[in-house]
Amino acid sequence: MTGKAKPKKHTAKEIAAKADAATTNRGGGKAGLVDRTGLEKGGHAKFECPHCKVTAPGMKSMQIHHEARHPKIPFEEEKVINLHAVLAPVVATKPKPGIRGSLKK
Ligand SMILES: [Zn+2]
Repeated sequence: MTGKAKPKKHTAKEIAAKADAATTNRGGGKAGLVDRTGLEKGGHAKFECPHCKVTAPGMKSMQIHHEARHPKIPFEEEKVINLHAVLAPVVATKPKPGIRGSLKK
C-alpha cells in the first residue's frame, strides 16, 4: 500500500523547470544574440539589417554587424533599411514578434 498511488509531485515540478529553461531566453537564442552584440538599444535604432532584421543606431554599427554576421554578402548601404525614413521618428509602433521571454533588455 505504501507508495502505490504516490503522487510524483517533485518530478512534475522538475519537468516544468526544464520546460521553463527551454523556453526562456537565457541569451543563447537569436534574441540573446542581438542582446550580446549590443546593437539593439531600443529607441536609438535607426538602421535595420535587410538580412536578419537586427537594428543598429548608425551605419557604422550596421557595417560592423554585417561584416561579423554576413561576411559572405557584400555590404551595401542602400540595402540597409533606414527606419527613420520608413517609419518616422516613432519606432515604437513596430511590433517585435518572435522574441520569447521577457528579458529583452
Ligand atoms: Zn544582419
